[in-house]
Amino acid sequence: MRPITYLRATDTATAVAAVSSDPTSDFLAGGTTEVDLLRQNVLNPRRLVDINELPLTGIEGTEEGGLRIGSLARMSEVAAAPVVRERFPLVAQALELGASAQLRNMASMGGNLLQRVRCSYFRDAHSACNKREPGTGCSAIDGFSRGHAVLGTSEHCIATHPSDVAVALMALDTRVHTMGPSGERAYPINDFFLLPGDSPHREHPLEHGELITEIEVAPTPLARRSLYLKVRDRESYEFALVSVAAAMSVADGRIVDVRMALGGVATKPWRAERAEDFLIGATIMRDNFAMAARVEMAAARPTPMNAFKVELAQRAIVRALDMLSNGTGTASASGSESGSPS
Ligand SMILES: Cc1cc2nc3c(=O)[nH]c(=O)nc-3n(C[C@H](O)[C@H](O)[C@H](O)COP(=O)(O)OP(=O)(O)OC[C@H]3O[C@@H](n4cnc5c(N)ncnc54)[C@H](O)[C@@H]3O)c2cc1C
Ligand code: SF4
Repeated sequence: MRPITYLRATDTATAVAAVSSDPTSDFLAGGTTEVDLLRQNVLNPRRLVDINELPLTGIEGTEEGGLRIGSLARMSEVAAAPVVRERFPLVAQALELGASAQLRNMASMGGNLLQRVRCSYFRDAHSACNKREPGTGCSAIDGFSRGHAVLGTSEHCIATHPSDVAVALMALDTRVHTMGPSGERAYPINDFFLLPGDSPHREHPLEHGELITEIEVAPTPLARRSLYLKVRDRESYEFALVSVAAAMSVADGRIVDVRMALGGVATKPWRAERAEDFLIGATIMRDNFAMAARVEMAAARPTPMNAFKVELAQRAIVRALDMLSNGTGTASASGSESGSPS
């Protein structure tokens, strides 16, 4: 039995000071990742600093058309907020298609961004895993890798980033605001998630004790025509094999602007920049969608077990662009590819 002490923080400065001054302390939000990993002996904090009473639960539309989401807003609250559903349907859909209704009621937005990988070797304290224990090796590379990444991998780690909503946020101009021992910071989302490289244990640039306070999404009018398509082994309560967050604006049969990010296939939420570059100015045609998908997935480095993801991702990209161009799946946050939300 490991003794764990518990502190309930009532203001942000106290929470930051408590965790940053003690390397064995962790923040506790909904606990749906933290408590799981604690039980599995993957995380071993000696103190949990409960942040649930901090005033970080707001969900507000900005006058300019953007969004500010407190890090302690729950997934279900954000998915249901009219301003999110109207301005950023892809965000609402990504949230509704994640986890289960019970989990979405507990899980916070900040915790979602910082959830840990689902690689079974990471979650088994007896397996070699560079992410859990740097320098021990990666059991997945020659092991069971069906759900693992094909983009952004390294010889040290091939784990897929698990979050759905992070994929939708990656397709937008999102900034993650924090408060830490060195003061306030704001990270563009593309700099927030790190590729594994030779240090897979570093997943984000946060210092120990740096608290996510808010997620800010800049106004993005084209996001009103957007969707999140999630392909998985079963229709609910399952992580993505492949997902596509996409938004598009069209004039005279040509794509004026497009945003796209992929989930389930990469070691971080993956902005599909190559596909975007190919699509801007292209005519709305399935052949162009297929070419954009091929261009994006050309960099894939699959294992024999997950090679199917390359083709699956290409098909999902084409499907998402088809749905956007014919207007299906964009009118509300519930018309997603994978059936009814879990
Ligand atoms: C069975 C199951 C299925 C799931 N399916 C999906 C899915 O399909 N899609 C999906 O996206 N997710 C899924 N999840 C993951 C779930 O969404 C996350 O566990 C949840 O969002 C984490 O939020 P939390 O508030 O519970 O975080 P916690 O567990 O409390 O914390 C997670 C981590 O973040 C840190 N932390 C929390 N808040 C902050 C903050 N504000 N600042 C700094 N650090 C912080 C904690 O210290 C901890 O390390 C699933 C989880 C389970 C258990
Ligand atoms: S893929 Fe990453 S998380 Fe999984 S065993 Fe290898 S190093 Fe660990």
